[in-house]
Amino acid sequence: MTDIRTITLPGEAMDLIQGAAEVANFLWQREWAERNGGNISINLTEVLRDVRPNLDGFQYVEQAGFPAESSGMTLFATGTGRRMRDLATPERSSCVVRIAEDAKGYHILWGGEGQPDFRPTMEILSHLKIHLDKVKAGSNHCVVVHTHPIELIAISHHPDFLTDEAMLNRAVWSMLPEVRVYVPRGIGLVPYALAGSERLADLTVAALRTRDVALWSKHGALSTGRDAHEAFDFIDVSNKGAKIYLACLASGFVPVGLSDEEMAELVRAFKL
Ligand SMILES: [Zn+2]
Repeated sequence: MTDIRTITLPGEAMDLIQGAAEVANFLWQREWAERNGGNISINLTEVLRDVRPNLDGFQYVEQAGFPAESSGMTLFATGTGRRMRDLATPERSSCVVRIAEDAKGYHILWGGEGQPDFRPTMEILSHLKIHLDKVKAGSNHCVVVHTHPIELIAISHHPDFLTDEAMLNRAVWSMLPEVRVYVPRGIGLVPYALAGSERLADLTVAALRTRDVALWSKHGALSTGRDAHEAFDFIDVSNKGAKIYLACLASGFVPVGLSDEEMAELVRAFKL
């Protein structure tokens, strides 16, 4: 037990966190979230705009690297080193932080229960960049999900797709009409970069401006949504396309895929 203060979160925030916990369970069941693989964050700034506690007594952590414009932002994030499957008890395995006014650190408002050394994911800076970009674009996407979907990672190792985004999207989209329809902007291919690096964060922000999913070569995928379920759907549907493509190759043939005409018909019919 500690005497560190925490707040009670309003229902709207708890609903979003509950959605993240449900998705974390799907990720684990799918073998996309080994050990502490992957992370989820939620921009709660709007939801918690009226929650303005006196910050005395809340745990404060200094951290360099937050952009000045992130001052006062409030984020939910999974905990560093915490297993994704532990998100079933979010108050112990995740936290809500508020970036300090001077952006030189953050207060932990909620979570990390009874653990004075609890910290949000080390990816919080890259998640923050994505959230800031979504806010600037007027997007209502407040959730970021990063996970390790097996077939998308596998296809990112394919020598033909490693550098050819158009070819990759053609292959994945053409496996099943639903992939073309429910991932309308397709996959943005992000060349391999060190996890947690600024370069990877910047490439991801750029990819998500025009695409529904950022596929980190030889690492994993990242998507955004109005809630965790929507972000998960983009990755789940994309992965289905990759899985069918690889199943065909494993069966010894290169899949024919939907024709250009059939794909164009979907674009017209669903106004994509
Ligand atoms: Zn990862």
